[in-house]
Amino acid sequence: MSEYDNRYLDSPLKYVKGVGENRAKLFSKLGIYTLGDIIHYFPRDYEDRSVFKPILEASDGEPITVRVRFVTGITETRPRRNLSIQKAMVTDGASLMNVTWFNQGYVKQNIDISREYVFFGTVRRVGSRVEIHNPVFEEADQSGNLTGRIVPVYPLTKGITQNILRKILRNALDAASDKIVDILPTGFRHKYRLAEAVFSYEQIHFPTSMENMEMARRRLVFEELLLLQLGLSSIKGTNSGQSGIRFSPVDISPLLNALPFKLTPAQERVFEEIRSDMESERRMNRLIQGDVGSGKTILAVLAMYIAASSGYQSAFMVPTEILAEQHYRTIAPLFEKFDIKVGLLTGGLKKKEKEAIKKEAEEERLDVIIGTHAVLGDSTMFGNLGLVITDEQHRFGVRQRARLSQKGENPDLLVMTATPIPRTLALVLYGDLDVSIVDSLPPGRKPIKTYVVDESMRDRIYQFIRKNIAEGRQAYIVCPLVEESDELEVESATGLVEKIRDDALKGLRVGLIHGRMKSAEKDDIMRRFSRGELDVLVSTTVIEVGVNVPNANIMVIENAERFGLAQLHQLRGRVGRGSHQSYCILFNQGKSEISRQRMEIMAKSNDGFVIAEKDLELRGPGDVFGVRQHGLPEFRIANLYRDMDVLKDVQKAAREIVSGNLLEKDEAWRPLARRVELMVRKKLQDLSMN
Ligand code: ADP
Ligand code: MG
Repeated sequence: MSEYDNRYLDSPLKYVKGVGENRAKLFSKLGIYTLGDIIHYFPRDYEDRSVFKPILEASDGEPITVRVRFVTGITETRPRRNLSIQKAMVTDGASLMNVTWFNQGYVKQNIDISREYVFFGTVRRVGSRVEIHNPVFEEADQSGNLTGRIVPVYPLTKGITQNILRKILRNALDAASDKIVDILPTGFRHKYRLAEAVFSYEQIHFPTSMENMEMARRRLVFEELLLLQLGLSSIKGTNSGQSGIRFSPVDISPLLNALPFKLTPAQERVFEEIRSDMESERRMNRLIQGDVGSGKTILAVLAMYIAASSGYQSAFMVPTEILAEQHYRTIAPLFEKFDIKVGLLTGGLKKKEKEAIKKEAEEERLDVIIGTHAVLGDSTMFGNLGLVITDEQHRFGVRQRARLSQKGENPDLLVMTATPIPRTLALVLYGDLDVSIVDSLPPGRKPIKTYVVDESMRDRIYQFIRKNIAEGRQAYIVCPLVEESDELEVESATGLVEKIRDDALKGLRVGLIHGRMKSAEKDDIMRRFSRGELDVLVSTTVIEVGVNVPNANIMVIENAERFGLAQLHQLRGRVGRGSHQSYCILFNQGKSEISRQRMEIMAKSNDGFVIAEKDLELRGPGDVFGVRQHGLPEFRIANLYRDMDVLKDVQKAAREIVSGNLLEKDEAWRPLARRVELMVRKKLQDLSMN
């Protein structure tokens, strides 16, 4: 292991002046064990004690800092046991003020009334009298630590007060300052306008102005996000410069001519990005983000067409069997016209069937294999794999992607996701990918009308469904589900079917689909629904991703308050795929203000980006996307919602560093390289894959 530069920061906290064994124990409750830990224990807020004001100008209830002389001595009374009161009168030269301390016997010994002091405290006005209670004080000559400045406010634990923490931090910084090595090279810091390390630690804890604190904070946020970003790309082990397959230039017009539609400008643009990746020597490593219904599938089809025409196989991986089936049904007949052979491989197949497909893939008798990632993910059965595509990527973790890209001879990698990921998070989660955005929908789509309703509307909703079905449309009804294996929820979908089949929706063809059914059954139901042989499909969230039945125009969601907004948006995206006006009806059984607000967002916006950002704002990233599932460490100072601008700079910087191979090349980058190495080993090891 290489020597790491700020090793001094690893020394145990108990050696810091003012700590000792007992306090060290208390600090461990805050997760602080070392000198470095306490320096990285950042304030949650600041108290501005820097504003000096004459007593005369202070209004009732206002916190002020004021320089005073004593006009009386300090007297002490003991009105009760357990209560002592210390009183005096002071002046700022212009007016008088009474000062009172409670149970602070030490002030009599500690204050020398012949000297000048600086007070900080909240002023009370009682008639013409001015009072200050329990002010913080410092001798004027030596002031500037507790008063006359901006003071940090930390999260605490029992036995550790603000003052103790501040004092120990002061000692820690004094001890460490001249030993801290700035892991960011000077030139780099200048380029990205980043403050120096020691300055930043000093100013984040003991700011001399709010501007300095902001500069310090920016640097520390930048550093934290940069480490993460570099760590991620090091884990991936494949830098953007890695060489891959150079696919031949292929004329795609035969395929385009076989489509029932023209590509949208957004699709064309993104396809050009894919094409240039594929034709280049560089290995493609691209994320396609596009809202539900934006038409991502055809982009995958085009890429596979190029691969097949260049003599390579493609693997198309999706999260559910339903989706695999559906893609197979649309893609296989299309590719047949061009003699491109497509196979389907899902967990639902019989063992023999699976073996047969695998053999065909191995012998290169199949050009394209569509399957669930569970099945495709752990076998290396391809004779000549050139392209790996994963659909609905937001369900996969970082590591899973890494493993994927290790298949075959460096296949090109394309990952597709709808947009429930706000840009800020996407940058972090997918910092190792190039990103393309399909930012417009195919023409002729009418925005889905969304209504939030309660039980009193139920009969009218059923009537509405009947009316639309009479006009030839179809409807989904989705019931909530926490966990697919949970019996209760299967029950509720089943229960609903029983309730409505012979009652509210009597006479209609109602189907049921849920995760506990055998895949053959699921396929059968899905096929019947997509052929129009069923009018209503009651479902759990198994239909959440990707399902495409353009004739369906109503999506009813029961207990909508139990779903995440991103998930609701995905579900809603199952309708609005054809030319008919579509509707989404959200039954909100939630009583809280926040569920009301969330439903309102759904009713107001059809834009996945907006919804994801709003949800992030309301609930925080951990709740919204299960950030922990994605294996992101918790941040010490960065806030993905607030620090989006910094994040953009970080991404740019990380690209430069990675593509220029700077960490290996140059002595000046050595400290940063070692930190990244250390962090990857320590922290990012458990990146989960959900
Ligand atoms: P998603 O991005 O959600 O995966 P899909 O690829 O399933 O979207 O496309 C949704 C629907 O839009 C499909 O029925 C598809 O055939 C259709 N579609 C895709 N591109 C276009 C286009 N350029 N013009 C018209 N319809 C299109
Ligand atoms: Mg899709």
